[in-house]
Amino acid sequence: MSSHDASGQMEPAGDPGPDLTDIASLARAVCGSAFALVHRPGAPLSGLVPPGLSPRDVAALGHLAGAAALVVPDLTRDRRTADLSAVTGPPALRFYAGIALPGLDGRPFGTLCVLDPEARPEGLTVREAEGLAALARQAARDLRLARALAEARADRDDLRSITEAAPALIAALDRDEVCRFANGNFARWFGFAPHEVVGRPLRAIVGEAFYAARQPLLARAFAGETVSFESPHPDADGRHALVRYVPHRGPDGAVADLHFLGVDVTADKEARAALADSALKFRAIAESLPQMVWSTLPDGYHDYYNTRWYEFTGMPEGSTDGEGWNAIFHPDEQPEAWRRWRHSLATGELYEIEYRLRRHDGVYRWVLGRAMPIRDPATGAIERWFGTCTDIDDQVRARETLAQRREALEAEVADRTAALAEANARLTAEIEERARIEEALRQSQKMEAVGQLTGGIAHDFNNLLTGIVGSLDLMQARINEGRTQNLTRYAGLAMASAQRAAALTHRLLAFARRQPLEARAVDVNRLVSSMDELLRRTLGERVQLEVVVAGGLWLTLCDPNQLENAILNLAINARDAMPEGGRLTIETANAHLDDSYVSSEIGVRAGQYVCICVSDTGSGMPPEVIARAFDPFFTTKPMGEGTGLGLSMIYGFAKQSDGHVRIYSEVGAGTTVKLYLPRHRGRIADEPAPQTGLPVPRAEHGETVLVVEDDATVRALIGETLTELGYRVIEAPDGPTGLRLLEAPGRIDLVVTDVGLPGLNGRRMIDEALAARPGLRVLFITGYAENAAFGNGHLSPGMRMITKPFAIDAFAAKVRAMIEPGLD
Ligand code: ADP
Ligand code: MG
Repeated sequence: MSSHDASGQMEPAGDPGPDLTDIASLARAVCGSAFALVHRPGAPLSGLVPPGLSPRDVAALGHLAGAAALVVPDLTRDRRTADLSAVTGPPALRFYAGIALPGLDGRPFGTLCVLDPEARPEGLTVREAEGLAALARQAARDLRLARALAEARADRDDLRSITEAAPALIAALDRDEVCRFANGNFARWFGFAPHEVVGRPLRAIVGEAFYAARQPLLARAFAGETVSFESPHPDADGRHALVRYVPHRGPDGAVADLHFLGVDVTADKEARAALADSALKFRAIAESLPQMVWSTLPDGYHDYYNTRWYEFTGMPEGSTDGEGWNAIFHPDEQPEAWRRWRHSLATGELYEIEYRLRRHDGVYRWVLGRAMPIRDPATGAIERWFGTCTDIDDQVRARETLAQRREALEAEVADRTAALAEANARLTAEIEERARIEEALRQSQKMEAVGQLTGGIAHDFNNLLTGIVGSLDLMQARINEGRTQNLTRYAGLAMASAQRAAALTHRLLAFARRQPLEARAVDVNRLVSSMDELLRRTLGERVQLEVVVAGGLWLTLCDPNQLENAILNLAINARDAMPEGGRLTIETANAHLDDSYVSSEIGVRAGQYVCICVSDTGSGMPPEVIARAFDPFFTTKPMGEGTGLGLSMIYGFAKQSDGHVRIYSEVGAGTTVKLYLPRHRGRIADEPAPQTGLPVPRAEHGETVLVVEDDATVRALIGETLTELGYRVIEAPDGPTGLRLLEAPGRIDLVVTDVGLPGLNGRRMIDEALAARPGLRVLFITGYAENAAFGNGHLSPGMRMITKPFAIDAFAAKVRAMIEPGLD
């Protein structure tokens, strides 16, 4: 099949092409034939077509023609055509002459032919053949033109859609500056619809004033120059376009028209402005910093340093760009700085290092180098590195000095610590020694006071005994005579004397008892008042005693026994200072030691105190005696009379009680000693006084009490008392017997035992018995000498202590309370 087949693709299907009917008619006229037609594969036939001509015959006839005209004088006689239906049947054609329509690429468009029902043995004349050929050329020309036109039209359509799609303003102006072409962007930029701008003069599009401003540029472009410039929008609304006028020359080489190309650069311009602004700010900040500031590209290429850097390094500007900076580092730090910098570049991690940097004068200074990456917020990619170098030389040197000093200091501290430990050990030893001495002092001082008292007390005691013995004598005589008259009265007298004697010994023993400070809330007024009788007895008749107690006196916290002791010693000192007699005044008062007072005394705290002031009208003390009066063993008294311990003990007591003592004295005028004890804000804890008159509690369940006492009289007395109270009583005269009884089975609810037993003392007896009877309840009877055996009275639960002498009712109450603890 040749390309001339009816299904050939010489023309795009459906393209009607140019109207070739005229040419066909002319051919028919030139050749004098009945029919003439132009046949193009795929296109309708044009011309005068024989009726009933089949497409197959058309195709067959079309194939006959070539570049030169082909003439078939009688179709019935040519074997190529004799069988065609148009030849054998109607329209019974006999003559054919055709010629190809030459195309550009050598392939013909089709054929132009003439047909006739009459055979023409002589064919075509020369003129007819030339005419046919000329018409064929004309038809080909028409076809070529039509095709070129179609192609041009397609190109134009392409161009239009491209210009519409382009993000640009595109237009063409003719020589008269009338818009010949414009894309939508161009029209819209100037506020028109696309169809409104074509045909409009430029000055009508952009406005008079704007046009006037653009005229010189237009003139240059029409003169043949391509003109580029950035132009604001005519509305001055902030929009900007990058514009280009491109002259377009016609075939004659003269500028025929002008192409207008514009790009909206508003966003770019804003971005550029923002960038320029931020760069400006960065520089301003970087320059204002006291540090050296630098910046690099993402690959680490240094392309910016602030002025500080150049000032510090003394390097010419730009000379440290790239990797030039490395040479300024101290050689010792270069490898490490490089290593870290490369690491940061690779990982994006913060760069930080201390290194020495060479200053312009060649001196290396310590610098802290830091850098951080700035990333694109959208992609996270590093855009730049910003770094600083901070001169930390002073800090580094200070740090080094500090480290050295610290070492020295540590060594010194170690030395000092050792020395201190030694001193401390010495001090501890001294304190212990001092405590021992003080304890000895306290004891001997008490003994001194006791000695002072003995005389008077012995006298008193004899009187009391006389009262007792006398009463008993009288009772005995009455009983012997069988008379009972007055017995009760004598018993009462004896009892009263005995009670007074007991009170006296009790006070004496309590006073002399070995006791460490046992601080309690103390009502000083009450304490002083209770000493009244003792003091009068001690002072003798020549000294007048005056006690002035303050109303509303605060409580103080101290050991009342020691305080009593102190007051007694002050009284004795006063008495000694007034051999011819005089007046001793004891006053109490609330006192406030203020800061100014305290500042002149060592170890005294400002605050509220209770003051006990003891004044005499005696000989007084010269300053040198006052200065030493508190020294232990300092005495001005003859051998055997003074121990020099009284005031020293008072001083110790005051210090131990957080108090203070001070002497005011003048020779010949008298002495005042002021003892300050700290105010106590608690309440007084009274020892419950034995309640006389109430019925003595009695045993109810046959409770058994073991009494261990070596003194037969006392043992009998206790035994009888307990039996009277209803207890079952077992008695033992010594420790071993008591222990045997305790280790034997049998009910024992309570042991009452003397501590001072011969052989096995009460304390040890109980310790051993506890194995057999854990939780045993014990009431120890102690004389003052044995108190120490109990470590100041710390007793196990279930154990109590009663001090001789004791009242029977108090004793009974204690026994009852121990057997039935609920009553305690
Ligand atoms: P002693 O009374 O054993 O001498 P003290 O320590 O009690 O020891 O007193 C020391 C000394 O202080 C006394 O020897 C005496 O010289 C002096 N002294 C103490 N109190 C008075 C006082 N009230 N009047 C005068 N001198 C006193
Ligand atoms: Mg004294």
